[in-house]
Amino acid sequence: MARALRTVSGPTDHVVVVGAGLSGMAAALHLLGAGRRVTVVERGDQVGGRMGRTEVDGFAIDTGPTVLTMPDLFDEALGAVGRSLGEMVTLTKLDPAYRARYADGSHLDVHSDPDAMEAELREKAGAPTAAGYRRLRAWLTELYDVEIGRFIGSSFDSPLDMVSSRAALSDVARLARLGGFGRLGPKVASFLPDERAQRLFSFQALYAGLPPQSALGAYGVIAYMDTIAGVYFPQGGMHAVARAMGEAITGASGEIRLGTEATRLERAGDRVTAVHTADGERLACDTVVLTGDLPLTDALLGHPHRRRAGTRWAPSCVVVHGSVPSDVAAGWPEPAHHTIDFGAAWEQTFDEIIAKPGRGRLMSDPSLLVTRPTHTDPSLAPEGQELCYVLAPCPNLEAAPLDWETVGPAYRDEVLQVMEGRGWTGIAEHFTPRDLVTPASWAEQGMGAGTPFSAAHTLAQTGPFRRGNLVPGLTNAVLAGCGTTPGVGVPTVLISGRLAAQRVTGG
Ligand SMILES: Cc1cc2nc3c(=O)[nH]c(=O)nc-3n(C[C@H](O)[C@H](O)[C@H](O)COP(=O)(O)OP(=O)(O)OC[C@H]3O[C@@H](n4cnc5c(N)ncnc54)[C@H](O)[C@@H]3O)c2cc1C
Repeated sequence: MARALRTVSGPTDHVVVVGAGLSGMAAALHLLGAGRRVTVVERGDQVGGRMGRTEVDGFAIDTGPTVLTMPDLFDEALGAVGRSLGEMVTLTKLDPAYRARYADGSHLDVHSDPDAMEAELREKAGAPTAAGYRRLRAWLTELYDVEIGRFIGSSFDSPLDMVSSRAALSDVARLARLGGFGRLGPKVASFLPDERAQRLFSFQALYAGLPPQSALGAYGVIAYMDTIAGVYFPQGGMHAVARAMGEAITGASGEIRLGTEATRLERAGDRVTAVHTADGERLACDTVVLTGDLPLTDALLGHPHRRRAGTRWAPSCVVVHGSVPSDVAAGWPEPAHHTIDFGAAWEQTFDEIIAKPGRGRLMSDPSLLVTRPTHTDPSLAPEGQELCYVLAPCPNLEAAPLDWETVGPAYRDEVLQVMEGRGWTGIAEHFTPRDLVTPASWAEQGMGAGTPFSAAHTLAQTGPFRRGNLVPGLTNAVLAGCGTTPGVGVPTVLISGRLAAQRVTGG
């Protein structure tokens, strides 16, 4: 018999959710759908959290995620209150999902259609890699099938949950057979002889905060999400989906209070009885859902979690936001919405950005994610201008405690120079900076070690070993968000919101 999942105890009629990021809003939608009264408090002036929006000089800039996968998870949350994403936002499926360009001047386009991808690889990487891709695709699909229910879509009460029933044991055995507990990089290489293709289907480990060489094979599931399930872009920008969730909450009689910071949890014994705000308000609650980054949540709980001191934080990133005149961008060889611009270096790059305290360095031969949202939705920029978002992974502040106020602008210029040298002709001269986000910016927002990617998904911080979503010692407090299970990324935090709601409703 499987163990019954633990839930909060006592009344749950009014739930206060701290944080209107994707996890908090997903939790709110599921709770509203289950008949609870919900108040969401958000310290910022907009919903979306890391999926934020800055308006500068007529440009609508998405500040966080750009690669949108698994939109059905938004539907799952919106569906709880009878809404759907399709009714609220127009999504475009990107094809190619991305382009990868390499130091030797070649490129590979990622298509989620299997025939198109196989043809791309046959033409540019040879028949053995094309054939290997079919086998890789089958492997990634099976990995996803086995993980999505038990390992990603479930809460854990203890590691023993993994062996608590025949079904659980059988899933663990299946995952082991698939190589889920082995290493991702070598597994992908076993399918694809072409080294460029290997990178394309394994670099996603970085999203989990790890180098492909040491990430668990199980994290191939991220490559499933973006190379097989597909990458989408909402008209109006990424923030449009966050706004849609906010509208659905208020449309279902939930309350969202922007500009409202939770500063203290009032307790009676083992229960949280109210959330106090910076404005001196007291919001009585039956249950609370906390979604801030782990240090923020622990500050509210009033004590550092016993395991946080030893947390291995994911690497961080610098995001260079800006614009170029459309005629400059028209000369670039990359026609894609997303381009991953790989440097020649590979393992060395991961060694530089994922390092022991004090040993990290900026990438000496950077690999960059270049996103051009106006490629799909020109309305995000004034006529004749194109938005350009360049994400450069970098060490977090523990690995490299750099003075980002000085380093940031110099690094931005260096990145633009590197791009100029790689064929993004005119970018160094014509790029107008609109915003620059560095690890110092994430640290200012209270994020651990100045990374927006939370605790890395090492084995010790994965699944039942990751920070759990129930709070020890409190009977009516639940966590959601990227610091808890299942982890970092848009799809996973949406799931974390559902899991938090299930801890409240038992549903
Ligand atoms: C630059 C960048 C690029 C990314 N790219 C991708 C990508 O392409 N694809 C992908 O899938 N994922 C991506 N991610 C990751 C993804 O965006 C995050 O994992 C996810 O959005 C985190 O959601 P969350 O709800 O856990 O946290 P948040 O979005 O941070 O939400 C928490 C909210 O709580 C609020 N809050 C905190 N403390 C308090 C308090 N005391 N009182 C009131 N409010 C409070 C915060 O203001 C915030 O709004 C990216 C992230 C970043 C930053």
